[in-house]
Amino acid sequence: MYFQPIEDPGSKLIAYLLGDPDVREAVVIDPPPRENELILALLSERKMRLRYVLRTHVHAHDGADCSALCGRASAQLVVAHSVVLTDGCPHIPLRVGEGSQLEFGNECIRVLSTPGHTPACVSYLWRDRLFCGDVFDAGDCPSGDAEVDGGLLFDSLMRSIFRLPEQTLVFPAHAIDGRHVATLAELRQHYGRMFNQSRDDFIADMLSRRSQRGQPRRSGQHQAPHRSY
Ligand SMILES: [Zn+2]
Repeated sequence: MYFQPIEDPGSKLIAYLLGDPDVREAVVIDPPPRENELILALLSERKMRLRYVLRTHVHAHDGADCSALCGRASAQLVVAHSVVLTDGCPHIPLRVGEGSQLEFGNECIRVLSTPGHTPACVSYLWRDRLFCGDVFDAGDCPSGDAEVDGGLLFDSLMRSIFRLPEQTLVFPAHAIDGRHVATLAELRQHYGRMFNQSRDDFIADMLSRRSQRGQPRRSGQHQAPHRSY
């Protein structure tokens, strides 16, 4: 199998290119538009066709601008059922939700519904690897607070994510406290205090963390560019 993370240095968004070299078919998860050339070059080098462009989530200000990549690679855009795309997106997406399955080459990806970071987030499970977008709500995603629902996030983590095997490898859309990959067991230990509290306490704790995270940014320190994902 072919597996290649691709991080956009500007937005800190991490895309994941998965490919089946035998059948020469690939998918990419959350591709940053500025990395299109690299993605196309990697595909071309390995003579692989891009079948799907998968999005874990789309922010309201974002618009899911994967048009160029979908168009150039003749790939199908995949988003969650209730994601709203901007009028400018010319592609009719394939809509997925809990239990959907996507095939590429001889591989299969299972879809988990994991809302909370935005109202319609999904995660993609491939073999022992989970591509969860920003469901941990702990990375550098510049999402506004208006889209986050702490209750939904708690439910997604407890009812979907943490029911997977502890050794599942978690690959986020933005690094989690500097980590680009961690096992579920490590994340459970890292965030143990948060997950061992009630839903209401989790929501209060999350809002407090978000406001603390936002303070240095408002005072003029480094901030990720306010753009997609
Ligand atoms: Zn996000």
